[in-house]
Amino acid sequence: MKTYGRYPVVPVKGEGCRLWDADGKEYLDFLGGVAVNNLGHCHPKVVAALQKQAAELIHCSNYYHIPQQIELAELLCNHSFADKAFFCNSGAEANEAAIKLARKYSRDTFGPERYEIITAADSFHGRTMATVSATGQEKVQRFFDPLLHGFKHVPFNDVAALEAAVTPTTCAIMLEPIQGEGGVNMPSPGYFQAVREICDRHGLLLIFDEVQVGMGRTGKLFAYEHFDVAPDIMTLAKALAGGAPIGTMLAKDKYAVAFVPGTHGSTFGGNPLVCAAAIATVRTILEDGLLNRCEEIGEYLTGELETLGKKYPFVKEVRGVGLMIGMSLSITGAEIVKKGHDRGVLLNVTHDTVLRFVPALIVTRQEIDAMIAILDGILAEVKA
Ligand code: PLP
Repeated sequence: MKTYGRYPVVPVKGEGCRLWDADGKEYLDFLGGVAVNNLGHCHPKVVAALQKQAAELIHCSNYYHIPQQIELAELLCNHSFADKAFFCNSGAEANEAAIKLARKYSRDTFGPERYEIITAADSFHGRTMATVSATGQEKVQRFFDPLLHGFKHVPFNDVAALEAAVTPTTCAIMLEPIQGEGGVNMPSPGYFQAVREICDRHGLLLIFDEVQVGMGRTGKLFAYEHFDVAPDIMTLAKALAGGAPIGTMLAKDKYAVAFVPGTHGSTFGGNPLVCAAAIATVRTILEDGLLNRCEEIGEYLTGELETLGKKYPFVKEVRGVGLMIGMSLSITGAEIVKKGHDRGVLLNVTHDTVLRFVPALIVTRQEIDAMIAILDGILAEVKA
């Protein structure tokens, strides 16, 4: 179905930050499968883990114990606030699980009147009905009425609006630590501390959607580590298994116990194949120094984009952290992205006017320099 406005590019092979199309044309990839290919394309450790696991056992039911799932859960919990993990297949499903867990815990603890979840304007949480209802963007929601009851949206970074939105029916606050699809929007200093305080005072769960910004993207394994505030529930997907489809919802024990046999599930969720890929991915991020590397190379890319931006009056701001970087424009970015394809660089625009740079954490200075030179040429044309 025509679900995507696809570009005329047919990638057939990838390695590191490069892709090749069916005609052999090479592309520098600064989209990274939309923040999925944090290790680059076909990282040898992920490929080896997939090949080995595929030859041993691809799938078995969650009616049985899956050692790879246990190992992955331990790895994620040992490096985060969380005690337990639930595995599924995508970011939207991870958020569905978070919404269900927050509601179930709140119902068990406070009664059925407490079910509402507050999220932010310009947020993005997925394309299923519950996550579309959670998403704070009209363009994602329109055509799909009636939306799921029990979501309320407030402006991001507005503590007073959040405080005013809390009622006796509120059970949770769900936020992206940095808004991705909404235009790479950074939290104001102190925002998440204030959010945490509101949650604690009202007994609300704090859910962080780290589907896009988790797994080293910001130079820390999880973005919340930048803000000295831990959530009660966190969702991950995208980069978690190096390109294999997976999602997870992590939670503290106190909340995780609300899920019991029969309350939630997924046929494929956390099967041996995808968990093997995820274990290899997480280990590689941690053991190959990629968090430090992301911080360093992210500063370099940000600096280069800032220098470039000064040349063009329609570049408003460069913002972000690590390799989660947005360049906001006073013009729409679609033409820039199109010209990028013609010149062999995969660029991306989000929220119409924000060029988003989410390359692999292994991107090199040379690759950045090459992309900047091409982007410079494109911006000069646009200016003219
Ligand atoms: N949450 C965030 C913050 C996202 O950026 C996305 C996808 O872009 C999702 C959820 C949905 O993830 P998926 O497309 O894997 O369902």
